[in-house]
Amino acid sequence: MQKNRCLMVFHAHPDDESSKGAGTMARYAAEGVRVVLVCATRGEEGEILNPRMDRPGIKEKMAELRVAELETACDLLGVERIYHLGYRDSGMPESPANDNPKSFYRADPDDVMARLVKIIRAERPDVFVCYDESKGYNHPDHVKVHEYGTRAFEAAAEADRWADSGAPWQVKKLYYFAPFRRERLQKIHKAALAEGIDSPYQEWLDRWDEYEREEQEVTTQVDVADFIEVRSKALLAHATQIDPDGFWFAIPDELVKRVYPWEDYTLIAAKVDTEPPEDDLFAGL
Ligand SMILES: [Zn+2]
Repeated sequence: MQKNRCLMVFHAHPDDESSKGAGTMARYAAEGVRVVLVCATRGEEGEILNPRMDRPGIKEKMAELRVAELETACDLLGVERIYHLGYRDSGMPESPANDNPKSFYRADPDDVMARLVKIIRAERPDVFVCYDESKGYNHPDHVKVHEYGTRAFEAAAEADRWADSGAPWQVKKLYYFAPFRRERLQKIHKAALAEGIDSPYQEWLDRWDEYEREEQEVTTQVDVADFIEVRSKALLAHATQIDPDGFWFAIPDELVKRVYPWEDYTLIAAKVDTEPPEDDLFAGL
């Protein structure tokens, strides 16, 4: 058991927590770690991506629905506390929502930092996880989560700044999620084809070649074999966003568990001694 430890993850929208690192949250929560989620927006710009939910009145209350979906998912995963920064979803790149003054993209950086630092100082996490510099996905809210999250790791410890945000706290380790690596997709894709399963990853892998996207470095692999089913349940809780017959569920959990039972991370900074490769986000603590 990992008593008195805290893992804090920072995400852009409801559902990001279930598609990136959800098994890790469930595993650490089960081991007694306090798992805290900070969510920047309520995802009001999200499309209805599940045909079953494409009904009148759904789009109008997207923010409420997505917050409720997030709460259900977090209950399943064992998240102890959710902080909503409450900014407006900025929408996809170059969409008009980017210009909304209430959007996360347009938010006053000092305001965001003061609030994020306050949450970190109140919760005192050992480990903080956010996004990389958009090697995978350039949604404006994700880029901002990367920028603010990375800054907050040091900022929360700065005694002379953010004086109204609580007593300084040094987070011990900063990671980026590395969930959609080519190597992982290839392994699952190959295994699916070998078993006669129609893999949805072919198109994704083809596009990869086209864009020559930089591969995320992996320093840390967390074994989540026992938490793959709960991860899928959490994802399904996002009923407006996730089609149970769609992409995310084309590959059976059982195959993923056999072929790639890990969630991947990149260690960015550590205030403790640790030597990658690691199999634990708390290694060295
Ligand atoms: Zn997102």
